[in-house]
Formats: sequence, structure tokens, C-alpha cells
Amino acid sequence: MKYFKSMFKNIAVIFAKVAIFLLPQKIVAKLKNKYIYQPRIKQLKVGNNHTPLFGRIYFEVRTRCNGNCDFCAASMENEKRADTTMPFSSYKKVIDELSEIDYSGRVAYHVNNDPLIFSELEQYCDYARKSLPKAWIEIRTNGKALTKEKVESLISAGINELKVNDYSSRQSQKVANAVESILNEVIPVYCDYNKDSNAYVLKDSKRELIVSYNDRDTHEVLSSRGGTSPNKKSKPEFSSEFCEHPFYQFNITTDGRVSKCCADLYFSEPMGNINQEKVLDIWYGEKFKAVRSKLFEGDRKMRLCEECDYYGVRCVNTRLGQIIYSATK
Ligand code: SF4
Ligand code: SF4
Repeated sequence: MKYFKSMFKNIAVIFAKVAIFLLPQKIVAKLKNKYIYQPRIKQLKVGNNHTPLFGRIYFEVRTRCNGNCDFCAASMENEKRADTTMPFSSYKKVIDELSEIDYSGRVAYHVNNDPLIFSELEQYCDYARKSLPKAWIEIRTNGKALTKEKVESLISAGINELKVNDYSSRQSQKVANAVESILNEVIPVYCDYNKDSNAYVLKDSKRELIVSYNDRDTHEVLSSRGGTSPNKKSKPEFSSEFCEHPFYQFNITTDGRVSKCCADLYFSEPMGNINQEKVLDIWYGEKFKAVRSKLFEGDRKMRLCEECDYYGVRCVNTRLGQIIYSATK
């Protein structure tokens, strides 16, 4: 049955590719809007003048990565930023403001960096855990600096998720082996496994813990990331498309600047600075509003966005939308 479903989908995508090739661009844009962007806009519950609180806050705690991905301007080879770290006082200010509103979204420590090479990571996680009991604390890493001891201390600091994107596996098994030994030797000491939720549960606190491993390719070509990607410089073919990032992400770099999305590697178009303004004032402020208003109308004619070929959504919710997505991505 699964085989026939996948065969049917492949045939539908081939037909869709032919149809899209023959149709005028304006019609294709209308189809994408109707079957991809509008359902996602509905799911995110956003409107032209209405945006709920972000669901993800990303702290770029140090402007460095130990990875070497071809598509990333923050790789060791391509890095041009100064190596700086986020002072605890700035971080604490944000967490305290989130605590006042009982924030229950995601907290993570990556934007264009690897959190495991920030030496005070556990202290930062611990403060978030104690101040934001409902938040989901995620560590997303390339795994190069992963050790059993590091994972033990992060579990004690209160994380909910360890997500390893291994971009080196075609050259070495080091990260894959480290994850395997963590799963076999560390996790069973601290957690039971809950089959129903497909997650580990901490024996003492009953907190959920997800550990995942993804085998990625360091030579991948992804999106142009606002024109910053070293291996994809081409200008996008389209100029009229929605993008969801400024509707649910809040990215902060070490000196407190907030970007409209994670593709703004240099935080070159700040929406505000958390050292001078309150988080909510930035999120609901005029700069974010202006960006969202344009993207809501499918208008990417502004800095970074006009150089960006990111598709605009992370998930596609309708069957027809998935076929159109596969035929146009
Ligand atoms: S994609 Fe991630 S792991 Fe790869 S170089 Fe960039 S920040 Fe590092
Ligand atoms: S389209 Fe604009 S907001 Fe969306 S990811 Fe690209 S640069 Fe960021």
C-alpha cells in the first residue's frame, strides 16, 4: 500500500512539474499561495496586523562554529565575524522578561553557531530551566564537541532535547559513534523510555528528553540564505512569496541585536536590541511589523529577502500543496 501511495505521489509530481512549466508564473504563484502559504498562515494563526508571541527564541551565545559546511557563511572556512560571547546579564534580562509572561515555547542556543563550544552553556540552560518551567529547552549541534560528560551536565541543567545534525559522517564516524555511546551508556542511567510518546523520560523529574541524530551532507546546497550562502548565490526566480520566519522566530546575537530571521548572519538589519528594549516591545514593534506586513502580502522587495530563495515555510499542510511543493522547490 505504502509503495502504491509513493508511486502515485511521484507520478503526480511529474504531472505537476509539466503543468507548472506550461502555466504562466502568475498562476503558479496563485496556486502556491492557495495550497501552501494560506494553509500555513492559518496554522500559524497570523494575520496582517496580528502576530502571536514567537514560539522559538534563539540565543547566539557565541559567534563561532567548529563545522565546515559548504553552504554556511559561519563555517570555519568562511567565518568573518569577531569571536564574541553573550554576557550572562543580557541573557538573564531576556529570560527574566520571559518568566514574567510564563513563556512556554522553545529556547535554543544556536543561530549561526554551535552551542557546544560555548563554555558556559550549562549555566545558561540551568537558569532557563529554573525560570521557565514550561519552556522546551533544545540543544542543536553538529556533534563535533559532543562527549558523554557534556551530555550528563546538560541533562542536569534541564534540557529537553538534544538534536545532532552530523555533517561529517561521510568523512568519519566519530559523531555517529559518540551519539551511539551516549544512547547506550548515558541515557539509560538517567531515563526510562516511553514507547507511546517515543521519548525518554527523566527518572527523577519525569521531564521528557528527546535525543535525535540526523546524517547530513556537508556539501549540501540549501537556500541562498538572504544572499549569504557561499555555495548558492543565484538570485531567486520569484519575487513574490510569503516567508514565515519573522512570524515565529526571535533571534538574538551576542551584543543583544535581534534579527528578522536566522538568515541575517551579520544581524545587519536589527529589529531592536534587547539590552535597550524589552523583548515584547521589539517583537510587536514597528520594524518587525513592517517586515511582516510586506511578507504577509508576498512582497520580498527588501534587504536580504530579495536575495533569498528560502521557500518560505517549514511544513506544507495540504496534499495538493505537497505535490506543488515537490514540483517547484
Ligand atoms: S550549518 Fe551549522 S554546523 Fe554547519 S558550519 Fe554552519 S553553523 Fe556550523
Ligand atoms: S525571505 Fe527574508 S525573512 Fe525569509 S528567510 Fe529569507 S531573508 Fe529571512
